[in-house]
Amino acid sequence: MSDHFDAIIIGSGQAGPSLAARFARQGLRVAIIERKHFGGTCVNTGCIPTKALVASAYVAHMSRRADEYGVDAGGPVSVDMRRVKARKDAIVAQSRTGIARWMEGLANATVYRGHARFAAPKTLEINGQILSADKIVINTGGRAFIPDMPGLGRVPYWTNSSMMEVDFLPEHLLIVGGSYIGLEFAQVYRRFGARVTVVEMADRLISREDPDVSDAVREILEAEGIEVRLNAKCIAVEPDGNRIAMKLDCAEGAPRIGGSHVLLAVGRRPNTDDLGLEHTGIATDAKGYIPVDDQCRTTVEGIWAVGDVNGRGAFTHTSYNDFEIVAANLFDNDPRRISDRITCYGLFIDPPLGRVGMTEREVREKHIKALTAKRLMTSVGRARERSETQGFMKVVVDAQTKRILGAALLGIGGDEVVHALLDVMASGQPYTAISRTMHIHPTVSEYLPTLLNDLKPLE
Ligand SMILES: Cc1cc2nc3c(=O)[nH]c(=O)nc-3n(C[C@H](O)[C@H](O)[C@H](O)COP(=O)(O)OP(=O)(O)OC[C@H]3O[C@@H](n4cnc5c(N)ncnc54)[C@H](O)[C@@H]3O)c2cc1C
Repeated sequence: MSDHFDAIIIGSGQAGPSLAARFARQGLRVAIIERKHFGGTCVNTGCIPTKALVASAYVAHMSRRADEYGVDAGGPVSVDMRRVKARKDAIVAQSRTGIARWMEGLANATVYRGHARFAAPKTLEINGQILSADKIVINTGGRAFIPDMPGLGRVPYWTNSSMMEVDFLPEHLLIVGGSYIGLEFAQVYRRFGARVTVVEMADRLISREDPDVSDAVREILEAEGIEVRLNAKCIAVEPDGNRIAMKLDCAEGAPRIGGSHVLLAVGRRPNTDDLGLEHTGIATDAKGYIPVDDQCRTTVEGIWAVGDVNGRGAFTHTSYNDFEIVAANLFDNDPRRISDRITCYGLFIDPPLGRVGMTEREVREKHIKALTAKRLMTSVGRARERSETQGFMKVVVDAQTKRILGAALLGIGGDEVVHALLDVMASGQPYTAISRTMHIHPTVSEYLPTLLNDLKPLE
């Protein structure tokens, strides 16, 4: 049995559902195919559940600090992991069912549940059924990368996905990977009460960031009792009674550590190996990503790749922006492009890191004549009032054009406040658009003019 559509979307990540809705609104017959949970990574095993856990961990942390604020919390703080998980599951379920109902209720749209695989460039096979379409959009996302490490077959380990089922407190969590995903879990589980060790093979955490950002993040985490092992490559794991032993290749510190559980957070890989791409003529790059042009078009006419799978972004907002780009080009005669967007993302430890544009290191490497300013969060009134003064704000500005090149806001509200800089960057205005604007007191944002009025040449 075969069915023909105007468009088929494979995967219901952050671009697929919105694109399906747009195709349908244009009066086109569209199919959307999902093999697991509607909403994909972000909704089910990524952004939303992790930030729900971050919220519970924050409450635990602040409850332990209650006395500092003159509040009697009524005894030692304990965390009920089952209720933490139940809260997280309820938040996830709301989003997941919301998307499923949206798709199922869409006029002109048909929902298929199952694994889709190309049988020919414009033909897919799903559950033994053949579907074809003039346009196909691949939004299949990615999954945790599992390294080829000796012993992994002999010990249990978690990834960001299996971690979502955990409803108990691990005694000692060993996290392999000191980047964004690993660090969020590290702080969350430490705040829940676990002993946590982070093993990172680079000489600093989140090594894509500037060294001062990495160092400040490490200090914040270590101050909470998280053990950080840098320059330490996890080379093997093995069972040790009912615990797990990890062998490290490291110049200093113990070459063998033990813990009760292991979380692998060493990167992601795209879901392209099981898509039957060999039947389309689309070749993936060395890491399995699907190369696309500036408007998310693959090398095969009529096939787009959006979201993490195209390797041009690794965030929910980049995936959603891919949807906007494809829709704008297809239906609105609006030539939006990937290259128009400004890099921006958050690291959602507490306090969070809000990042936009270039790092200071990138500015130096490009030999751009620049100005910079950096202030500790201890200078920010709002941070002091709340006794949450960790971190700093740093901004880099082009000395000639006066446009903001990039910023790192590590501190309370940093993930929100950074948008003021982002919007001015996007509007093409100089930094004075912010520094000459009156802001609300007492907020973190009111400190941006002070920061920007302190610019000095980048030495
Ligand atoms: C722990 C964690 C935390 C994160 N936190 C953040 C954050 O705070 N902010 C942020 O911006 N980003 C975050 N991310 C990244 C974010 O989740 C992804 O960038 C985002 O989900 C974009 O995904 P996508 O649209 O490419 O597809 P995905 O969301 O990965 O969805 C792809 C969908 O396709 C389905 N699928 C795959 N293959 C097939 C097939 N052959 N047939 C049918 N269906 C298929 C999958 O089941 C899945 O539902 C986080 C990621 C992780 C892992």
